[in-house]
Amino acid sequence: MIASFIKKVLRRGARNAVPRLRIVPAESHGLSPDAISACATRVTKTLQNGGFKAYIVGGAVRDLLVGKEPKDFDVATSATPDQVRQLIRRSRVIGRRFQIVHAICHDEVVEVTTFRGANSEDANQQTDEHGRLTRDNVFGTIEEDAARRDFTVNALYYDPVRNEVLDYFDGVADLRARRLTMIGDPAQRYREDPVRMLRAVRFSAKLGFEMDTATRAPIRDMADLLLHVPESRLFDEILKLLLSGHANACIGRLRAEGLHHDLLPLLDLILDQPQGERFIRQSLENTDRRILEEKPVSPGFLFATLLWHPVLDDWKRRQAAGERSMPALFTAMAETLEAQRRKLAIPRRYDAVMKEIWSLQPRFEQRSGQRPFRLLEHPRFRAAYDFMLLRADSGELAEEISDWWTDFQQVGQEEREAMLVAEERPRRSRRRRR
Ligand code: ATP
Ligand code: MG
Repeated sequence: MIASFIKKVLRRGARNAVPRLRIVPAESHGLSPDAISACATRVTKTLQNGGFKAYIVGGAVRDLLVGKEPKDFDVATSATPDQVRQLIRRSRVIGRRFQIVHAICHDEVVEVTTFRGANSEDANQQTDEHGRLTRDNVFGTIEEDAARRDFTVNALYYDPVRNEVLDYFDGVADLRARRLTMIGDPAQRYREDPVRMLRAVRFSAKLGFEMDTATRAPIRDMADLLLHVPESRLFDEILKLLLSGHANACIGRLRAEGLHHDLLPLLDLILDQPQGERFIRQSLENTDRRILEEKPVSPGFLFATLLWHPVLDDWKRRQAAGERSMPALFTAMAETLEAQRRKLAIPRRYDAVMKEIWSLQPRFEQRSGQRPFRLLEHPRFRAAYDFMLLRADSGELAEEISDWWTDFQQVGQEEREAMLVAEERPRRSRRRRR
């Protein structure tokens, strides 16, 4: 039985190593050219009319085939970046290592990439001592381009003119089976780029797919390779994961695959906070919900929630030691950010938002005189209020306070005046004791 299982895995590996084109016609893929954005359609047609191959590729095709709305549209073409520039007037080249062209329509940007070459021992490819590709910039054929993509469902090329899907690695079959399969030998592909392990988790959570056995198997043993990935790239990938609309599911799967401990400090922070656990879980649920409702989500807000409990602990400790409330809070914020900076790669540009959201929190407890009115006027009120709701939901703050603020915003001026809580008398000094 084990032998037959191994044979099956090997066969699957073989099947995945060599591209074999299947052209999927309109009646079996069910995609409509209308689903493609006007900009992506125009770019594709212009390139095709110029004598080049050009297709919509990657996430957009995958998402449309499973009935999800694509985030954006990417085009892959046989034209070189210079040739793309010549055909599409409003475009610019970005990226130095591997040039990509951004084609610009009035409200949309489409990324146009030239087919990339096969993975081979090539002068244009370099790896580090762990086998990670550090340079990879040769142009190639469409077959080679398909082979160097990560998952079979990400290697589908849609031609909106002929209305057909080009499928080199049985991606459509995997899509129907709701299965995520790595192209080629999974272990080798993870070695070349360990971030693919995180992508495997993100896509399987987002699409609700099972990972293929051979795709999943090497992850646990190879997890450590993530340690050699540049921090900024990891940060970008974790951010994508947190903003995927399926953050909670992703975190659960990372844990199941053994992909978090000591590899991803940002995730250790999420998973290893016994006190903040409920708060963070609620924050991620809230983020997921907002994304599914197509409401904006700010990374600064999200990081503010991830770091809130460390701030809160330090703040309380300082107050207990006799420091005054507000100065103690500001010191706690600065110290927490400083301590985290050494471990996490949260860029400094988010500091200002986080500090503002945190420092407004105590002001929700002041509900007398002019103070609530001033808070309402604060440019960051909305974010601070949403943050306060999460605190109340997780049981950290009395619900009476969060309900009060919800009502206070909704009623008119007179009712607001009536809602104010009586001014607390300044405490008399007790020094008169003899
Ligand atoms: P989404 O944008 O919805 O997160 P996507 O599939 O479009 O998903 P991108 O990161 O935008 O993902 O990449 C576009 C395409 O480029 C992918 O579909 C895949 O074919 C290829 N790709 C991206 N990153 C890698 C990688 N690390 N290794 C191999 N192929 C990749
Ligand atoms: Mg994409």
